[in-house]
Amino acid sequence: MGKRGKYFTDEEFACKCGCGKADVSSDLVNRLDQLREDIGRPITIASGFRCDKHNASEGGVSGSAHTLGLAVDIKISSGQERFEVLAKVLRGFLFKRIGVAKTFIHVDIDESKPQTVVWTY
Ligand SMILES: [Zn+2]
Ligand SMILES: [Zn+2]
Repeated sequence: MGKRGKYFTDEEFACKCGCGKADVSSDLVNRLDQLREDIGRPITIASGFRCDKHNASEGGVSGSAHTLGLAVDIKISSGQERFEVLAKVLRGFLFKRIGVAKTFIHVDIDESKPQTVVWTY
């Protein structure tokens, strides 16, 4: 089990289609380490790297930051958890692109896309 950053493993970032690709940027991992540190307990990566094939089958937008290794979805189980993750993500602009869904929060560092945005699904 390959370690990725301080708190994560390759497996947590790997594409869920079974191809096993986990090609996420080190900047992304560093920010997630910081987020994990700020929260003070484990966070669950619901979706990390996605190959083009898997992204398409999941209905992801073409060119999604997931396919570039610049995004993760963090699993969210309660309103308290959503508040906590959002508070830490926004602190110091740790992430400037945030998508809020019912069961996860998407964060990405894709600088080719609009910055300082929060969207819903
Ligand atoms: Zn894949
Ligand atoms: Zn996402």
